[in-house]
Amino acid sequence: MIKAVIFDLDGTLLNRDASVQKFIGDQYERMKNWLGHIPKELYTFRFIELDSRGYVWKDKVYQQLIAELNIKGITWEVLLQDYLLEFKNYCVPFPNLISMLEALKEKSILLGVITNGRGQFQLDNIVALRIEKYFETILISEWEGMKKPNHEIFDNALKQLNVLANESVYVGDHPENDIKAARRVGMKTIWKKDIYWNDVKADFIIEDLSEIPLIIEKLKGEGDSRMIKKFDLQNMDKVRALFDLQRVSYLIEAKLINFFDIPPLKESMEELMESKETFYGYFEGDELAGAISYTIDDRELTICRMVVHPKHFRKGIAQALLTFIEKEHPDLLVFKVSTGKNNTPAKNLYLRNGFKLVLDMEVVPGLLISNFEKRGE
Ligand SMILES: [Mg+2]
Repeated sequence: MIKAVIFDLDGTLLNRDASVQKFIGDQYERMKNWLGHIPKELYTFRFIELDSRGYVWKDKVYQQLIAELNIKGITWEVLLQDYLLEFKNYCVPFPNLISMLEALKEKSILLGVITNGRGQFQLDNIVALRIEKYFETILISEWEGMKKPNHEIFDNALKQLNVLANESVYVGDHPENDIKAARRVGMKTIWKKDIYWNDVKADFIIEDLSEIPLIIEKLKGEGDSRMIKKFDLQNMDKVRALFDLQRVSYLIEAKLINFFDIPPLKESMEELMESKETFYGYFEGDELAGAISYTIDDRELTICRMVVHPKHFRKGIAQALLTFIEKEHPDLLVFKVSTGKNNTPAKNLYLRNGFKLVLDMEVVPGLLISNFEKRGE
């Protein structure tokens, strides 16, 4: 079930190439007193070339232009300031931008933006396109302190929208920063086709924004083959899959923390079937890709196991399981979990979900465990 669509800005909603063309031609005219000795075509051509489609920051671009084109009487700082203040007045949207956002809103889809760039500058451009009111969340890398393709910025956006990765779609133009990164966290992807790249692997490829509502409609109808289901410990086949999954998964943890006597690795199938824990599995089709188990005691939930098959790492499965459990039990006061002190990926997962480190302890000689807790709001 698709609940949210998150967009990149430059090259996806904002036609940056056209915007830059308009802006730089006008900057030349406004600054003609100092730039008049340079042919306009040369000034605009070099700016666009040095800008590398926005991936080189403008302080570098203007410093280079000053040196190269023998610009006197005006500093790169002044030109940069002009860019920062004026660019928003030249923003060109891609066709059908507003009607596409309206159509998604009509379907009650939550909308967001994740863009790399300077905070106020990017926000000004969003406001200039008159689209800020459509978005429930806008994440700009400077203000977030992290940028795409870092998966955390995607995790944060999903968290703010309160949706799982597999309930959301990411639309972007950059093969690495947008498409690969969003796929890794488990989102569906739409690549806004761009002549600068080819061979991009996305779930959908579009040439025009108006295609998006149709795709979302299709996805909503399809449902999703990936889902979280309660685990039936009486079903032999299912338990076998869980048993195998936890062996491969805990073996990785054992290597990570250099301790091989962790209890689930010594557990038999029979012991697993008799467990008093509640289990949920994350399935991709019929395949068990991850699982979580917990016990509840007097409004305290303790996560006992969290396992993901290595071939499904970095798809946001552990995150999805954790979010699911928390949503299932909104009434509980305390969530507890322990993990090996050296299991950094697991520790990071809990920390970014609001868990706090309570205590490190050596449970048996050679095994250091970090205990985390999260208190309900
Ligand atoms: Mg882009």
